[in-house]
Amino acid sequence: GAPITLDRLVKTYPNSTTAVDQLSLDIAGGDVTVLIGPSGCGKSTVLRMINRLIEPTGGRVLVDGEDVTSVDPVRLRRTIGYVIQNVGLFPHQTVRANVGTVPRMLGWDKKTIAARTDELLDLVGLEPGRYSARYPHELSGGQRQRVGFARALAADPVVLLMDEPFSAVDPINRGRLQDEFLRLRQSVRKTTILVTHDLQEAIKLGDKIAVLSDHAHLEQYATPAELLAG
Ligand code: ADP
Ligand code: ADP
Repeated sequence: GAPITLDRLVKTYPNSTTAVDQLSLDIAGGDVTVLIGPSGCGKSTVLRMINRLIEPTGGRVLVDGEDVTSVDPVRLRRTIGYVIQNVGLFPHQTVRANVGTVPRMLGWDKKTIAARTDELLDLVGLEPGRYSARYPHELSGGQRQRVGFARALAADPVVLLMDEPFSAVDPINRGRLQDEFLRLRQSVRKTTILVTHDLQEAIKLGDKIAVLSDHAHLEQYATPAELLAG
């Protein structure tokens, strides 16, 4: 997996809110790093600077040593998979079309996309014959989240960014989805940054946990075992 370096990242929004103030973090390739901290401390802002949904005011993001600002947008979409709370599936597109979003952008041929879509739906536990023609509103919340994972993984990204991926799901399904995420990781080891405000989830899923306070100040950066011991 590719390492990620956040180098003195700063984001000040146009309304003068400094959401992220000089955050530096070295993330090892293949690790799941959890960003945890109170609501409004800047976690989402950090993720959105990594995939360039927003531009930093200062500092740099390096993915595998390369500054993301020098990567062209299409390749960046391929390099970085992104999963958000409530998934953000396109409501007027089928499951198959949603999962194929990035491959279509990349100009893959239809057969390859169809085969890849089926493979991914199988991977996330949604039988393609049953689910690929459905629309998002015809799925349960947990199923939509699975489609979101499949879409994020479609073009085999190098990095996976997950912003509160389980928090919109009811507690029972949340546990199941977390277990599936751990199972998926056995076969798909990508450098992953996962945002949550749930300490149990952080401990369960993280290789490393970055504890943030307001303005994304780094309070601790430790393994779950170190955090529990300390
Ligand atoms: P978290 O993900 O930890 O809840 P965010 O990154 O969403 O935190 O927000 C960090 C801070 O930046 C908050 O004070 C929030 O109100 C502010 N913020 C987020 N997005 C914007 C925006 N588009 N414009 C102005 N302020 C914003
Ligand atoms: P889950 O346990 O995955 O969250 P639910 O209990 O919400 O699932 O849903 C159970 C079944 O009902 C699922 O197989 C799902 O496909 C189906 N289902 C849920 N919502 C809808 C809907 N709006 N339209 C059609 N089928 C639905």
